[in-house]
Amino acid sequence: MFELLKTDPHTKARLGKLTTAHGVVDTPVFMPVGTQASVKALDPRELREMGTQIILGNTYHLNIRPGLDIIRAAGGLHRFMNWDAPILTDSGGFQVFSLAKIRKIKPHGVEFRSHLDGSLLFLGPKEAMEIQRVLGSDIAMVFDECPAHDAPAKEQRLAVERTIRWARECREQPRADGQKVFGIVQGGSSAALREECAKALVAMDFDSYAIGGVSVGEPEPEMLKAIELTEPFLPAHKARYAMGLGTPAQMIELIARGVDMFDCVLPTRIARTGTAVTRRGAFGLKGSAYKADFNPIEEGCGCFACRHFTRAYLRHLLNVNEILGLRMVSVHNSYLYLKVMADARAHLAVGTFADFYREFIMNYKPSQKILAARKMETER
Ligand SMILES: [Zn+2]
Repeated sequence: MFELLKTDPHTKARLGKLTTAHGVVDTPVFMPVGTQASVKALDPRELREMGTQIILGNTYHLNIRPGLDIIRAAGGLHRFMNWDAPILTDSGGFQVFSLAKIRKIKPHGVEFRSHLDGSLLFLGPKEAMEIQRVLGSDIAMVFDECPAHDAPAKEQRLAVERTIRWARECREQPRADGQKVFGIVQGGSSAALREECAKALVAMDFDSYAIGGVSVGEPEPEMLKAIELTEPFLPAHKARYAMGLGTPAQMIELIARGVDMFDCVLPTRIARTGTAVTRRGAFGLKGSAYKADFNPIEEGCGCFACRHFTRAYLRHLLNVNEILGLRMVSVHNSYLYLKVMADARAHLAVGTFADFYREFIMNYKPSQKILAARKMETER
């Protein structure tokens, strides 16, 4: 399923190709997040035009609304949302452990109350795989337990034990035609747990592997450490996916550490509060500094918003709550994420990734506001 085309001689960065039932994905890749069967504020044509290769859907949310019967009747998630390229679906594990407030962990899954209407629901390996089978995603994720980053050691250990047991159960469930399944490594910031979890999952021979339990409110050094503790135990000939990350600079840091796939709600979420992401960091476009600024959001950017509109105009739209304003910032932010990945791939192909990496990190100024927004993340 994954073909490793090239490895950077100076870092652990990799150039690869992922083959799925709905097409080929070049890696490293950013996957825009379509939690509710829509990448917020963007339509499939725009996504295609900006170079989106694969998007995310969400088991937890889609199972609650519109419900499986509707998606089954529509002929699966691709048809329902009119997206004929690859889709990866999250198993719902992350949402059960972050959104659903009252929950009871049982041997074969979790009993919880819907965050919407409080109705009693159950999600486990069997249910999560069945939902993903009906959704018909190209890549399904195993149902895992994702504890908070500050969970006590005992809880982290139990989560790893359940994650391994549930991964085995997921592996035995029926799949959609051509559907691939990724294992998810948990273990928090414990070297021993990360190694144990990775080795157990690799022994089960999944199609590829994700690193979970990151982007759960931990400080950045701890996040990088969790990736570094896991990566050496993942097979080189399979893809590595860091779940729920990150800022453009974090993605570049992770590519240099051997990660191939990313998803993050950040570009579209912060767009809705008027924050634009650039190669130099993020800034709030609503500020009075941009009142008469007739430059594009980012000089040299090829996105539709930067080619057609000025900061002054977009700032005005945002301040009078015109939908076009937040749509255009969503277009720019998503384009930027995709373009940074395309640039990383181009540099990997010609052997100049290390220079690109150094320069990118040097120029990027992380914003405290963005880091705080990531801490509050509850949706993926
Ligand atoms: Zn732009």
